[in-house]
Amino acid sequence: MTSSYRITLLPGDGIGPEIMAVTVDVLKALGGQMDLSFEFQEALIGGAAIDETGEPLPQETLNRCQDSDAVLLAAIGGYKWDTLPRHQRPETGLLALRSGLGLFANLRPATILPQLIDASSLKREVVEGVDIMVVRELTGGIYFGTPKGIFETETGQKRGVSTMAYTDSEIDRIGKVAFETAQKRRGQLCSVDKANVLEVSQLWRDRMTAMAADYPDVSLSHLYVDNAAMQLIRWPKQFDTIVTGNLFGDILSDAAAMLTGSIGMLPSASLGADGPGVYEPVHGSAPDIAGQDKANPLAQVLSAAMMLRYALDQPTAADRLEKAVIKVLDQGYRTGDIMAENMTLVGCKAMGDALLSALAG
Ligand code: NAD
Repeated sequence: MTSSYRITLLPGDGIGPEIMAVTVDVLKALGGQMDLSFEFQEALIGGAAIDETGEPLPQETLNRCQDSDAVLLAAIGGYKWDTLPRHQRPETGLLALRSGLGLFANLRPATILPQLIDASSLKREVVEGVDIMVVRELTGGIYFGTPKGIFETETGQKRGVSTMAYTDSEIDRIGKVAFETAQKRRGQLCSVDKANVLEVSQLWRDRMTAMAADYPDVSLSHLYVDNAAMQLIRWPKQFDTIVTGNLFGDILSDAAAMLTGSIGMLPSASLGADGPGVYEPVHGSAPDIAGQDKANPLAQVLSAAMMLRYALDQPTAADRLEKAVIKVLDQGYRTGDIMAENMTLVGCKAMGDALLSALAG
């Protein structure tokens, strides 16, 4: 029986439409092979939405996203919209999408593909075999805590204030995602905090420790964030799944991403308690290469693989897509961002064609 899924596509700005077009073609081909039917509906976000409607996230887009099984997002932003007031910027649309869909968990894998080991800035023996998943809390912590603002003190000085706060229920819900993610991986979860200095981190550590009793198959460890940053660069292979708050996760997931050496290869997923998740590449809209057929579509394609695995529960299809990516790399095809000696330089469309052949073969 054919399984049918409704997917909202948000191509956004810059290279977004180019990498999305490749991904849709690939999903259609995969669907044909595996009896999966995708009903794609496209909607506006970011600069494209501002140009058309004046808003970075039109209500119609949010409605469509809410009414779908999963959302596939490319990227938003560009020079053209950089000087608009904050509430009209493309980035505001992204934050509104996250909060509109209640996406509190961000999953970012950092996996070293053998074919791209030399793209890493670290030594081969340090990065070979690295396979880390960073689970970052996305809607709480210091980015959202109150009070926040720049206030005037009694002495006339300006004082900038941001507040790092988590409730126990906020910690528990990200903890649940993290423990369950670790269960599906190698069963090791490292919780990162700053409990030696911050009360908010002490509560974080207490809750994570308490939750561990419900997951006897997961081994939980704790690290302070400064040490975690050091360990990620020193010996990243020690990590399986990392869970951390919004600010620490923002920084550590970028550091973990750089271990792989290629931003054009990294997918991510943002998940809520229920309802559709958003699957998107880690990179931005790359306005410097937009419209030139130079973009690497593989992070977008790998985001679609995460969508198949986590949102649609189609692990076999996800595996097949990931294998096609490995195959085109094995065949030596490279876009400019991951180009190396003796490889074949291709553009975005040609990489898409190579993927279609890999799937067919
Ligand atoms: P960026 O990720 O867009 O680009 C950084 C560098 O990496 C550029 O040189 C770019 O050409 C290259 N690059 C990125 N993705 C690539 C790909 N798929 N293939 C080949 N090369 C790739 O980051 P930036 O330059 O800091 O930001 C550009 C715009 O993107 C800004 O407006 C920013 O706000 C936005 N942005 C959006 C998101 C998002 O949509 N989630 C994330 C980050 C930045």
